[in-house]
Amino acid sequence: MGLAYPYAAIVGQDEMKHALLIAAVDPSIGGVLVFGDRGTGKSTAVRSLASLLPPMAVIAGCRYNCDPAAPAMPSLCELCASGGKEKAAKKKVKAPVPVVDLPLGATEDRVVGALDLERALAQGVKAFEPGLLARAHRGFLYIDEVNLLEDHLVDVLLDVAASGENVVEREGLSVRHPARFVLVGSGNPEEGELRPQLLDRFGLSVEVKTPTDIAARVEVVRRRDAFEHDPEGFTEKWQKENARLRRKIVTGRERLKTVEVPEAALERAAQLCIKLGTDGLRGELTLMRTARALAALEGDPVVTDDHLRRIAPSALRHRLRRNPLDDAGSTTRVERAVAELFGA
Ligand SMILES: [Zn+2]
Repeated sequence: MGLAYPYAAIVGQDEMKHALLIAAVDPSIGGVLVFGDRGTGKSTAVRSLASLLPPMAVIAGCRYNCDPAAPAMPSLCELCASGGKEKAAKKKVKAPVPVVDLPLGATEDRVVGALDLERALAQGVKAFEPGLLARAHRGFLYIDEVNLLEDHLVDVLLDVAASGENVVEREGLSVRHPARFVLVGSGNPEEGELRPQLLDRFGLSVEVKTPTDIAARVEVVRRRDAFEHDPEGFTEKWQKENARLRRKIVTGRERLKTVEVPEAALERAAQLCIKLGTDGLRGELTLMRTARALAALEGDPVVTDDHLRRIAPSALRHRLRRNPLDDAGSTTRVERAVAELFGA
């Protein structure tokens, strides 16, 4: 695989870049849904972000990227769990954060894993061949045009997203392994609706557009051309800025545990969700976690109205029910509610 385009060199698309950074600081926020035009660099942005992240420690020889710091199943695979902590502590290796593409036409076998037919035929052994979900563990799972994903795969994703575990029980196999990842989906809402349960699983949603500003377009093309002409030189040129972003994510992750979420901020989040009529409590939970991650990213010790206000559109716009009496877009509706509640 060649060099990834430097994250810091991506022109514009601030909302998307910001949402991805927040998801990197707190992966429990649950993924990013990107609505927008084709060819706006969505997949590039995910790959760039992953290459920006520090490599992760994995248990040597594990096919599921098990985390040496994970306590037990279901955060460890069966093999690592049975090997005991001593073994895990001994053999650590570093691996890059994975970015796995889930293509629309993928079979269920390829996604969840299946019986390794070659070994079954040649050696008569029932071995498991891990799928895309195993490869994506602790990294990113990217689905282009997620709104066109087949129903049975959506079911699989919903199960795994809820449990953090992939369970395969068939063809005489019985395998379970951890599968936690940041889901990044892109899609054009005009080409197919997303099932509400799946929509709900995305912590954040962002809108990206092809820039209409001439200067921005020129810069996109100029940088892309420079990167493709000389990837090493271009990466070198952006190395300092990329390193600054990496430090920001790393310190953000460390600070996350100490950022305070005052009662008043929780009440604000609840008021906003009531005002917007979002279903369930996931909206509030996401809003709180996202505001906390934002505060951590920016080095603020306490979550304030300002964090909530800035992050509300991303955390809530995909959770609104259609209102037949209000044809304003969902972003406008969130912004309006924020203005009414927090004061303009
Ligand atoms: Zn393992």
